[in-house]
Amino acid sequence: MESCPYIGKCGFYQRFAAKNSAAWRGLFDSYCKGGLVGHCERNKLYSMETVGFSDEMMPNGKNVPGPFKMLL
Ligand code: SF4
Repeated sequence: MESCPYIGKCGFYQRFAAKNSAAWRGLFDSYCKGGLVGHCERNKLYSMETVGFSDEMMPNGKNVPGPFKMLL
């Protein structure tokens, strides 16, 4: 299975990887360990060597919504 080359340095992944709800697992399985990795906005920033963006920025480029963050 394809895996993101930035998974070891990605602040978003490091911060939320322990999440275990279906919504979060689906996100990780689709982007970080799946076929949508090339569509991740964080991946694009890392590949351009951009630094200083928030760990809370999701693959879609938006900040994690509060209710989503509350999910386990
Ligand atoms: S959020 Fe994006 S950059 Fe981070 S590990 Fe997942 S696919 Fe890679």
